[in-house]
Amino acid sequence: MALKTAQQYIDSLRKLKSDVWLFGERIDNFVDHPIVRPSINAIALSYKVAHEPEYEDLATTTSTLTGEKINRFTSLFMSTDDLVKKVKLQRLLGQRTGCCFQRCVGMDAINAVFSTTYETDEKHKTEYHARFKEWLKYIQQNDLCVQGAMTDVKGDRALRPSQQPDPDMFVHIVERRKDGIVIRGAKAHQTGSVNSHEMLIMPTLTMREGDEDYSVCCALPSDSKGVHFIYGRQSCDKRKLEKGDIDVGNYQFGGQEALTVLDDVFVPWKRVFMCGETDFSGMVVERFASYHRQSYGGCKPGIGDVLVGATAAMTDYNNVAKAGHVRDKIAEMNHLIETLHACGLAASTQGTKTKAGNYQPDILLANVCKMNVTRYPYELCRLAEDLAGGALVTIPSECDLRSPEVGKYVQKYFKGAGSVSAEERLRMLSLINSMTFGLTAPSYRTESMHGAGSPQAQKVMIERQSNMEQKKKLARKLAGIEEREKLTD
Ligand code: SF4
Ligand code: FE
Repeated sequence: MALKTAQQYIDSLRKLKSDVWLFGERIDNFVDHPIVRPSINAIALSYKVAHEPEYEDLATTTSTLTGEKINRFTSLFMSTDDLVKKVKLQRLLGQRTGCCFQRCVGMDAINAVFSTTYETDEKHKTEYHARFKEWLKYIQQNDLCVQGAMTDVKGDRALRPSQQPDPDMFVHIVERRKDGIVIRGAKAHQTGSVNSHEMLIMPTLTMREGDEDYSVCCALPSDSKGVHFIYGRQSCDKRKLEKGDIDVGNYQFGGQEALTVLDDVFVPWKRVFMCGETDFSGMVVERFASYHRQSYGGCKPGIGDVLVGATAAMTDYNNVAKAGHVRDKIAEMNHLIETLHACGLAASTQGTKTKAGNYQPDILLANVCKMNVTRYPYELCRLAEDLAGGALVTIPSECDLRSPEVGKYVQKYFKGAGSVSAEERLRMLSLINSMTFGLTAPSYRTESMHGAGSPQAQKVMIERQSNMEQKKKLARKLAGIEEREKLTD
């Protein structure tokens, strides 16, 4: 079955025996847990759109490995057009979920490991690429959700992995056996980890001599023995345990991050794609980072579309939409959103082919895209908070709105202009609240800052990718320090 439906995806999660912890308790049925479920719904949408005829071209493609129709989230990008479609699909899903839909990390990791294993084999005469293709076929044929696991907990940031007083601060190989390896460590704030069938583990930084045990890339089922998920909190998460849906804001969808602990997990050789090749750790990190920084030119503008829509709706409800400064601020929000998207599209169209045959986005533009993402969503939130008004943080609860005693006051004093009811205003304010600093905010604020790497990581790449010698030469020529351009012979 190459294309699962949303329902089949949700049902398939029920079969996992994952060890999930939240508020100090083990959750037996994470699928129906009110705090977890919205994040499952967000991924489920990536399965649903694959069956919508109008999005067939965006959400599905033909596998170059199996020849079958597959979900784009399990695909290899075989052209710059595929890279463009990825970003457009991400914008669509950002628009329809208003949050992080989590499935992109695995898709980006798949493409980074595909090309890196090819080049590793070329140099080291290993057989990682063939193994990886076999594993990917299995993923595509079963339309599985993969989490890309990169970020280690890192311990003392000034020390190399092999210098850490506690060797488990970076995921590492603790045993090499005849039938496979045993790994230990933890991956921090892993997106969609609990909701995925498989995890694809990669090193977190460029390794050096001595870090061989830390240069490991492999795949394992999420419910493998020794894997423990400790669910990450989100602002106002306990609102999901209350009665009603208004106070949650974005009630249907949400993001998810968890600490993924790997406590002596066995991985058979056929699932190992890097084992000690320190010289290829940097390649997989850099390629994955570029893919995911390009991805942010899709999801973040999509979420921005919802935020500007909610903000504009509030100005309608308050009957201030025609005011000059309001229109100016809405236009500014749209300008920021389209700039983010333009960057993601530019990084895609300027992509190049790897030796393995799949495509990479332009590294410089992907990093510029993500650098903008560390800033613009904050400005978008500031403008949304400005226009939505102070009620954003002072509205009463849904229980008060429904109260037989005080409900009439809430309805009277929170109603908007014309026929706009208090409930409509409360719902819209709650949605903006959840997107700017509440439940789904992580995917729009702090996640925009640190997801796919913190801003300094992008600055380093921008510095590395910008040809400053050539730029200085341009200036020297025009300044007359070097010979000027000859226009005639
Ligand atoms: Fe996808 Fe964006 Fe979430 Fe990354 S942050 S997994 S690109 S939705
Ligand atoms: Fe992210």
